[in-house]
Amino acid sequence: MKKNRFMEMLRARGLSMKLVLSFTMVTAALVPLILQAALMLGSFQQNQLDGRSMEIQNQCAILSNRMTRSGYMTAEKKNNTALDAQMQTISDLYNGRIVIVSSNFKIIADTFNLSVGKYYISEEVIKCFRGEAASHYNKEMQYFAQATPVYDPANEKTVNGVLVLTASTENIISLTDKISGSAHLFLMSMLLVLAAVSVMAVHLLMAPFGKLQLAFDRVAQGDLDADIMVDTYRETKQLSESVQKSLGKLRAVDQSRQEFVSNVSHELKTPITSIRVLADSLMGMEDVPVELYREFMTDISDEIDRENQIIEDLLMLVKMDKSAESQMNLEQVSINGELEQVLKRLRPIAKRKNVELILESFREVTADVDRVKMSLAITNLVENAVKYNVDSGWVRVTLDADHKFFYITVADSGIGIPEDCIDHIFERFFRVDKARSREVGGTGLGLSITKNVIRMHHGVIDVESQPGEGTVFHVRIPLNYVPRQEGRT
Ligand code: ADP
Repeated sequence: MKKNRFMEMLRARGLSMKLVLSFTMVTAALVPLILQAALMLGSFQQNQLDGRSMEIQNQCAILSNRMTRSGYMTAEKKNNTALDAQMQTISDLYNGRIVIVSSNFKIIADTFNLSVGKYYISEEVIKCFRGEAASHYNKEMQYFAQATPVYDPANEKTVNGVLVLTASTENIISLTDKISGSAHLFLMSMLLVLAAVSVMAVHLLMAPFGKLQLAFDRVAQGDLDADIMVDTYRETKQLSESVQKSLGKLRAVDQSRQEFVSNVSHELKTPITSIRVLADSLMGMEDVPVELYREFMTDISDEIDRENQIIEDLLMLVKMDKSAESQMNLEQVSINGELEQVLKRLRPIAKRKNVELILESFREVTADVDRVKMSLAITNLVENAVKYNVDSGWVRVTLDADHKFFYITVADSGIGIPEDCIDHIFERFFRVDKARSREVGGTGLGLSITKNVIRMHHGVIDVESQPGEGTVFHVRIPLNYVPRQEGRT
């Protein structure tokens, strides 16, 4: 239950980098220490045991030699008191027991005096009677058993007895246990020291990330101008730079949004102010003649149309937001037919201004386009060419294509665009001459809409103009619409 809650919390809060780093540092330092300690303890114990085994073998060899020489196995028991005393000393020295087994496997001497007369048969004893000394270590019971042959003094090849020394290794084991206890204590204190040191080191190492986090928090609270540069490490510097870049873009978007909102409110207010002025002056007058009344009402109606037009254009722009790219109504459209339609619709306006409309198609072009949007984009261009033209001027629309793109140019003999305005004409609400644009019914949104439509078709639009001579818009659009992959623009 507890573990589950911990895992859930971990999942919700994410793994702490500090924790992982501290843990890694402690593990990296402690594991070799533990291994080394275990290895050293193991080899220490083995050395002690080997040493003890050698000692026992030597002592047994010496004792058995003396027994052989004194004919211990054949002599009377009472003559062997010196050897018995030595046996006792050795067995006491190794905290063990010595028994002497005769050739009929009967115990004839025992330092514990418990088993004299009893039989003693073991692998080592049997081996010894064959002439070779044998030893055995019982790890579980913690004792050595060393069996050494005792020979007949008359014939040094005949084994007539076996000396068996069992010696406890308990003191060696308890010594290693003691050392291992101290090693554990040392390792535990090392663990504590290492944990404290690594927590402190990680805290210091991660401090710049904490600073970065604080800066990001300020940004998240809406402070787009927060200073987020933390250049302590290359990584924090790169991170800060990337965030700063994104913040720059965000600031630009924010600024353009603010500008747009203030432009929109200004543009929407202008016709309303005019309507108010017109209505107020009508109300302020007494006995208004019907003609004047009608004239004012016509002006009011014009202003309402204007307001309507601005709202419609704004809605159109919003609809053409980049996300609307997926809502394109693509179909195979004859561009020649479309241009003819646009020009046909605009002819009456052109006629009013005495402007000649010419269409030059170099070939038949069909392309994947959104018919309504494309028609709107071209209409805006041709309408502008008529609106900003001179009396008795001309507008020439040409259409051409190659294997990949179709090209439309809209050239006019109009007033042209001043050089310093050229870069701004596609911006929302930008007009070279506000009064003139207003006079001809412009909203300042036409070219933005056109550019958006062309961009949605993955095309480009360009303009060249000479004030007083005329303007040419060049449009290039792919014949086949290929949807772009997510994340690419
Ligand atoms: P508007 O509704 O004012 O026509 P547009 O976005 O269509 O808005 O055009 C922006 C400005 O660019 C216009 O106000 C005008 O000053 C200038 N402009 C556009 N087309 C032409 C053109 N063919 N000749 C001269 N000026 C032009």
